[in-house]
Amino acid sequence: MNVLALVDDPIFAAHEAPAGHPERPERLDAARAGLARAHLALPLRQLAGRDATDEELGRVHTAGYVERLGRAAGSSGYFDADTFYAEGSVEAARRAAGGSLALVDSLLRGEAGYGLALVRPPGHHARPDCAMGFCLVNNAAVAAAHARANGAERVVVIDWDVHHGNGTQEIFFADPSVLYVSLHQYPFYPGTGAADEVGTGEGAGFNVNVPLSHGADESVYLTAFDRILCPILQEFDPDLTLISAGFDAHRRDPLGAMSLSDEAYGHMLGRIAGALPRGALGRLAILLEGGYDLRALSDSLAATLSALEDTHDPVSPGEVGARHAAELERVATQQKQFWRLG
Ligand SMILES: [Zn+2]
Repeated sequence: MNVLALVDDPIFAAHEAPAGHPERPERLDAARAGLARAHLALPLRQLAGRDATDEELGRVHTAGYVERLGRAAGSSGYFDADTFYAEGSVEAARRAAGGSLALVDSLLRGEAGYGLALVRPPGHHARPDCAMGFCLVNNAAVAAAHARANGAERVVVIDWDVHHGNGTQEIFFADPSVLYVSLHQYPFYPGTGAADEVGTGEGAGFNVNVPLSHGADESVYLTAFDRILCPILQEFDPDLTLISAGFDAHRRDPLGAMSLSDEAYGHMLGRIAGALPRGALGRLAILLEGGYDLRALSDSLAATLSALEDTHDPVSPGEVGARHAAELERVATQQKQFWRLG
């Protein structure tokens, strides 16, 4: 029987936020409430937590940065203007990355078909040699590199956080074995994520950015999946799928300016599941990134999880306005160099 493996740990709350900071421990309470409310089609199994080792972090981060993280453990301060660390933050970051590794192991061993990591701090802005944008360790990248080191040939990271995952892109920019796909608000923090950032060297074509201007709604996102991302996923044929699941493209989010509903997240999950080959459909993990409105985070996560193993016909996207249609066209033009798009 299929199972949803869960990573959760009270230590993630030890990454205490300064007063008023949006990336705060209460986000995890909201996510847990969303999980509790989701209409899960499969049983849940919590995994034992573990810490990522220096070697595992070192697959995507520099030795110098791993050392710097070690020195920051037990103290507090800022890595950059908006990336704080508290006394428990480095321990939380190591456990968040380690939990993502445990999830990958569970999926690769076939013990679970789906995984959910309710982790903090988030990861996708963390670069090889530094923390950035609320992120200390790049959890999705550490997980993807671990999967590659343990037999997965092709891994896809699909990032629907409203911000571009510059760290994940940078880490795998020259690597054809890890496909990075991101839908994000653009121009916006962190400034990267243009359509023509397609990868380099052997990695050319294995970086797919879908930069969208403000106000993009479900019809824009689903059209991006139908026209561009699903055909690429089918052709890439991944062994393992990681979703960098931020919920800050929700219309209630205080940081983003997009217009997704709760249900849109379930519909996107449905598109991804529908595009994956049978084998990879049983190896899909959802890793929490951003999402700063607690109700939106909770309800969107519930919608996402309720769509796992949902057998309903996919909803059709609505009409896309001219501005967003032109943006999608630019992405398709770039990606047609590398993929069979209709
Ligand atoms: Zn974000």
